[in-house]
Amino acid sequence: MYLGLDIDQKLVEMADEAEKELAPVFKKYEQTSLAIMAKVIKAFGDCRLASPDFAEVTGYGYYDGGRDKLEQVYAQLFGAEDALVRPQIMSGTHALALAFFGLLRPGDTMVSISGRPYDSLTTMIGISGKSKNSLIAHGVNYEQIDLVDDDFDIAAIVNRIKRGGVSLMAIQRSRGYACRKSLTIEKIEKVIKAIKAADPNVIVLVDNCYGDFVEDREPTHVGADIIVGSLMKNLSGGITRTGGYIVGKKDLVWQVSERFSAPGIGKDLGANLNTNREMFMGLYYAPSAVESSLKTMTLASFLLQKLGYDVSPTPLEERTDIIQTIRLGSADALVGFCQGMQKGMIIENFVVPEAAPMPGYPDEEVMASGSFITGSTIDLSCDGPLTEPYICYMQGGITYSQGKLGILVALTNLLRSNGKK
Ligand SMILES: *Cc1c(COP(=O)(O)O)cnc(C)c1O
Repeated sequence: MYLGLDIDQKLVEMADEAEKELAPVFKKYEQTSLAIMAKVIKAFGDCRLASPDFAEVTGYGYYDGGRDKLEQVYAQLFGAEDALVRPQIMSGTHALALAFFGLLRPGDTMVSISGRPYDSLTTMIGISGKSKNSLIAHGVNYEQIDLVDDDFDIAAIVNRIKRGGVSLMAIQRSRGYACRKSLTIEKIEKVIKAIKAADPNVIVLVDNCYGDFVEDREPTHVGADIIVGSLMKNLSGGITRTGGYIVGKKDLVWQVSERFSAPGIGKDLGANLNTNREMFMGLYYAPSAVESSLKTMTLASFLLQKLGYDVSPTPLEERTDIIQTIRLGSADALVGFCQGMQKGMIIENFVVPEAAPMPGYPDEEVMASGSFITGSTIDLSCDGPLTEPYICYMQGGITYSQGKLGILVALTNLLRSNGKK
């Protein structure tokens, strides 16, 4: 027992050692968080955010001043011209679908330049599943250029642009469910420079899910035309209950907003009801929640590596998202690990997760999560597809104290189940 919780004493000692060794890394996360907090303070001040902006607007959403200020704040924080940030966007996948369908026409060609996209996107694009509403079913051509040694294949990308006909190039910053490293802002900056030099008209779209507020610059600061994210992830701060965002060039955001609502209406309508307050509050808490999550995942990486697991990123490696992966090697080990993690959750820690199909995902998924916002992954959580090589994707930890204790409970269970085998 440790502080009244079922935690192995050996792990407590390992965590003490970890925190000593990781102090410089934690300091770096704190500095980034501070710099982003300063931008949040500035943006709230610049738009003169005040209590009346939190008032509920109903119906068509005429004169929803809070909604307009929220989008102004997002644009400013991301160094962009405009933003669409709405509670009606129900997930990251939905936000990405709005962006792709808003920007691409039949006959257009999109190229994913970070390899195969995130699982739920493959269904939406039409490279898996058989939806009659996929991009490919609508006549969009899909091409893919794979990463080489976890970096962009710039020569192949520039060559492809020179051959002509490319409307949009898509980048996924985070690794998603792929066995690769996440793409840092530095790498994204380099490839965008090369793309724009080859043809400034190619639209660069970045799936920013899990990357938001991890570095002090976002893809839009280094030339991305439009970026997309989920409010069940980093920018929720554990507060915002639902939503998604699209940030970028004014004309492109407008085009996407016409897909979101209707041609001609765009982002001018839409009642945010009583969500404006929590949307701003989420942003206010997000720098600190992301910092805690990075600390929690770095601690997990350190401990799991010491226990002999293959982890990525390694504890001292630079991070550009909040994801930590552990290679577990078998379906049993993956499900077992998630069951141990579930015991470390703040609520629903009595539940035993099992693998099951998930809407939009090709493989069965197992997920450990227990948070005040259903499925929120800025909260401590982990999940993985039931497929080779059985990797678990962990993320979150809104407060470091809960994140740390949750990881220690999970690893106590891991040690015990290993002992049993
Ligand atoms: C989570 C995620 C998505 C989809 O977001 P949902 O909110 O789960 O629909 C898309 N891309 C990446 C890289 C993600 O991590």
